[in-house]
Amino acid sequence: MNMIDIISKKRDKLTLSKEEIEFFINGYVRKEIPDYQVSSLLMAIFLNGLDMEETYYLTLSMLNSGERIDLSKIDGIKADKHSTGGVGDKVSLVLGPIIASFGVKLAKMSGRGLGHTGGTLDKLESIPGFDINISGDDFLKQVNDIGLAIVGQTKDLVPADKLLYALRDVTATVDSIPLIASSIMSKKLASGADIIVLDVKVGSGAFMKTIEDAVKLSKTMVEIGNRFNKHVSCIITDMDEPLGLAIGNNLEVIEAINTLKGKGPKDLVEVCIKLAAKILIKANLYKTEKEASIAILEHINNGSALQKLKEMINYQKGDSKVVDNTMLFPKSRFIYEIKSKKEGYLSHIDALKLGIASMHMGAGRLKKEDPINYSVGIVLNKKTNDYVKENEVLCYLHMDEIHDDIINEVYSAFEFSDKKVSIKTIYEEVD
Ligand code: URA
Repeated sequence: MNMIDIISKKRDKLTLSKEEIEFFINGYVRKEIPDYQVSSLLMAIFLNGLDMEETYYLTLSMLNSGERIDLSKIDGIKADKHSTGGVGDKVSLVLGPIIASFGVKLAKMSGRGLGHTGGTLDKLESIPGFDINISGDDFLKQVNDIGLAIVGQTKDLVPADKLLYALRDVTATVDSIPLIASSIMSKKLASGADIIVLDVKVGSGAFMKTIEDAVKLSKTMVEIGNRFNKHVSCIITDMDEPLGLAIGNNLEVIEAINTLKGKGPKDLVEVCIKLAAKILIKANLYKTEKEASIAILEHINNGSALQKLKEMINYQKGDSKVVDNTMLFPKSRFIYEIKSKKEGYLSHIDALKLGIASMHMGAGRLKKEDPINYSVGIVLNKKTNDYVKENEVLCYLHMDEIHDDIINEVYSAFEFSDKKVSIKTIYEEVD
């Protein structure tokens, strides 16, 4: 077997065998196959796709490239959640404490932000002192003790994905359904949870630009789960505009804290309740979504979900005083108001443009090694379908330096219309 034949086969739209897929994954992880050949195969896969069988074998080979986490030492039901990535997506910070307050465990390994999308680890590290580098045993102990831990991925968890993802990122091959499905599912299967819920984003700020593609990706991940005897639930949610109001690390943590205090923006609350309800039903705590949602709101209103967030921050050496007083978070030097130059209904707030603007302000990184500025970002004052008058504030830019090109980029993210448009927060569910 050799790599040239495998590349030619995929170039010619033929089906790869289990052995050929294993050969390429194992060879790449062992550094026997060079980046340029793997890049070429990735582009052939991007253009010609993989069928379900090939996608399953790719997931299996990636899963087998590293260690699997054994969660059997944790008592009770363990859940895991993953999002395909977006702008303003702080769902894990709200969802984890909610489900932990019901006794369902969240043992989650998260990633960092890259490009215009944020990462949960960067958001958590914006909490003064918060430590995401927890060793395996301490991770299990924390989840057993308080029901909740969000930590960085160990280097041995699906090493094939780390290598492939970095290569896809620089070869324009990220937004491919079989490559995303195998990347996400290999990590979720290696993490060993009983219940897996996936938030598949669709729209300008997401990898999937159409609902059809998001459904296809969801069905592929559900089917992979079935083949490994794991039940996977997906919801397809809007990422045409940012989720919630805040974009940027500590700004998003503040919004997550406020959401757990019952003061969250409507779309964020809707996504968090939907995912949490799915988990609680799967854990056999409730029969219907209505019952589960009422109970979740109770746990928000009585402070038990917020208490779990505090426990996690304390356990991971963070300063949990910020939960009671969010004014303790470091602030940017300026808050610049973006005022509307027009009047009308907001028909689109481009998540991609705001994600890129916020990255250029320092909230994200262009390259892996770039430092992050935790207090900069954007806070929306208006959402799609709000009526805006001239001079009303569209959003606030939390910046350390004023840059005209960023201000212009932010202006261009807001589109107006003389009537409302039809948008939803949750488009579909695929189970
Ligand atoms: N998130 C992942 O973990 N992998 C992808 O390929 C895309 C989004």
